[in-house]
Amino acid sequence: MYTAVLVRYGEISLKGKNRGDFEKCLLNNIREALSDLPSRKIEHTFGRIFVKVNGDAKEVIERLKRVFGIVSLSPVIETSLNIEAFREKALYLLKNTPGQTFKVETKRSNKRFPYQSPEVNRLVGGYLLACTGHPVDVHNPDRVIHIEIREEAAYLYSQVIPGPGGLPVGITGRGILLISGGLDSPVAGWLGLKRGLKISGLHFYSFPFTSERSKEKVIDLCRVLARYGGDLRLLIAPFTAIQKAIRTNCPEELYITIMRRMMFRIAKKVAEQEGALALLTGESLGQVASQTLESIAVINKVVDLPVLRPLISWDKTEIMNLARKIGTYDISIKPYEDCCTLFIPRHPATKPRLAKVEKAEEKLNVEGLIKECLDNLEVMEITP
Ligand code: ATP
Ligand code: MG
Repeated sequence: MYTAVLVRYGEISLKGKNRGDFEKCLLNNIREALSDLPSRKIEHTFGRIFVKVNGDAKEVIERLKRVFGIVSLSPVIETSLNIEAFREKALYLLKNTPGQTFKVETKRSNKRFPYQSPEVNRLVGGYLLACTGHPVDVHNPDRVIHIEIREEAAYLYSQVIPGPGGLPVGITGRGILLISGGLDSPVAGWLGLKRGLKISGLHFYSFPFTSERSKEKVIDLCRVLARYGGDLRLLIAPFTAIQKAIRTNCPEELYITIMRRMMFRIAKKVAEQEGALALLTGESLGQVASQTLESIAVINKVVDLPVLRPLISWDKTEIMNLARKIGTYDISIKPYEDCCTLFIPRHPATKPRLAKVEKAEEKLNVEGLIKECLDNLEVMEITP
């Protein structure tokens, strides 16, 4: 019965040229999200988008619930401009929406339609009452049957399904997501996507210390992110030589700090290659030794581009809850090791001093190690 899905979008602050860019980006992303389904017409009029469907709106709605920038969705029935047609469609909606009480709410932008909104409410509401015996409640109804009377047609709907909000992916630029197989970084990536960042993933991989399966885990996590943000590039950076060099040459309590600094240096180069303006990590203040303010400051010294840490003030339980909701939790909790869980020092420095760290790094061929890593990047294109 449904003929289209009505898409409502936009942040309150959208204006002028921003609005045009937002709409263009959102339309592209909607097309991409539906690209493997039978092709559908997408209409864009007066600040709303209609995705045409033939009867079944379920799959389209499931997809659009993951497209950032969408505020809400309604499966709608488009119908001709006459009361008989309204009655028939409204009855269908009422029968397919759970509840007892109801009301009809009409909006009429087409002033040539011969009945005013309150009359339409009465004519259709009375008919529904007679057909079903369900009582009208205008103050607190279980169901609202909406009728929008426009120039070309009328649109009826009863459900308003929340969208994910946020901004269309791509509108705010590109970021490099440092993604481990853990719980935090995929959630941070999702939050970046939500604010319109297009993401390239960067994973440091220490074969044979970490197994092939730990890489698969990261690929699976990226697949989940691709369901929200569209296809994404994943770069796998070989990290074994760097970790070995650190272990051989640097004081144990600084392993993690120096490892992180190497990751950031490489991520910065990758950002240049990918045209990205920021790095994105799953760090949360105070969660572990490398996430004290002192550590963050020393690690951050090696890069001059913004490092976005959307989880900085989140508790682990909050992160876990969102991970469950977006579908990364079950993958993240699989037990495969991450390169950072290797070589864990017994007493990692929680307050590393920059001078000491820089001194320790003099023992490393930093430039040579970075070059070798970058020359051996493995690139993958990940789809949902
Ligand atoms: P996560 O759950 O994301 O692994 P975490 O709480 O385990 O985070 P750390 O292991 O200290 O914290 O890592 C902090 C951040 O550094 C991660 O959120 C991620 O952004 C980045 N990171 C850690 N390990 C890797 C890796 N192997 N490859 C890429 N980035 C990594
Ligand atoms: Mg980790």
